[in-house]
Amino acid sequence: MLVGIAKMAAESPLLESKRQVEYFELPARSILHRTKPGMPFRWAINPYRGCEFGCRYCYARYTHEFMGMEDGREFEEKIYAKADVAALLRRDLRKVGREDGIAIGTATDPYQPAERRFGRTRAILEVFSGGRGRSISLITKSDLIVRDLPLLAEIGRGNVLRVHLTITTTDTELARALEPLAPRPDLRLATVERLAGAGIRVGVNSNPIMPLITDSEESLDRLAGAAARAGASYFGGGLLFLMPSAQKVFFPFLEEKFPHLTRRYRERFEKNAYLRGPYQEMIRERVKRIRARHGLDSYSADYQPELSAGREQLELFPLG
Ligand code: SF4
Repeated sequence: MLVGIAKMAAESPLLESKRQVEYFELPARSILHRTKPGMPFRWAINPYRGCEFGCRYCYARYTHEFMGMEDGREFEEKIYAKADVAALLRRDLRKVGREDGIAIGTATDPYQPAERRFGRTRAILEVFSGGRGRSISLITKSDLIVRDLPLLAEIGRGNVLRVHLTITTTDTELARALEPLAPRPDLRLATVERLAGAGIRVGVNSNPIMPLITDSEESLDRLAGAAARAGASYFGGGLLFLMPSAQKVFFPFLEEKFPHLTRRYRERFEKNAYLRGPYQEMIRERVKRIRARHGLDSYSADYQPELSAGREQLELFPLG
């Protein structure tokens, strides 16, 4: 018998069906979810479940397993738009401290094609635009984000707002293979330029860095250089993480496109979903070096939003 989220997913009304993708409305009990300790943010918001971009390495496929869908592909073919997100967020924000970081888009792309139709991310941003003093980050691969530039600029005036564009490579063909339905790398770089031009703090994440596919000094350097020229403030990169749910899609992809790497990947990831040890250290140093070469900050570099800087000044020099 299906229970909890699996039951809710099975009963969700169909919103629309196109090609192989079906869209559903998913009732949600809450929209803010607490993250595990050690993350750079305390809360996560995912306006959708599933992601049509279908990146071959996507670690978030496990979220569909909770709904009883285990073949890995349903993650990109059955997209669930969460219901009543604005009302849920207004309610949930009461339990969130001002110092707690909130990240939008940790397990789905908030600007995937569904957003054009259902506007759940926009509804969330509208709630944030009415508040002050929060720390918000948003992660996307999509140029659709420029639709919400005025809203993002308003949020950034009163809150610490960081937008992360994820770009794994500047090589269009490789990106098409790895991230078949996500916007091309040059469109993502143009998006960085638009956001930076609008005064929004924006950076580029090269996540996930994939051994012998995107991890060379040359490839990462090319990407960081393009990010810097587009106006990115920071650059980062985390390593590939492959849980069994992600392996189900990534290993057949490797067999097709990179057969010479399949055995090495299997040996490494079947033992442990994480890459650790000397390789991790080498990539960390490489990213640091490249960042310095292009004058880019790390994610943690901080800034003050316009309105909160004003408030500090008022506290230091009270008027009355
Ligand atoms: S854009 Fe992000 S959430 Fe969507 S499929 Fe790619 S990695 Fe997964």
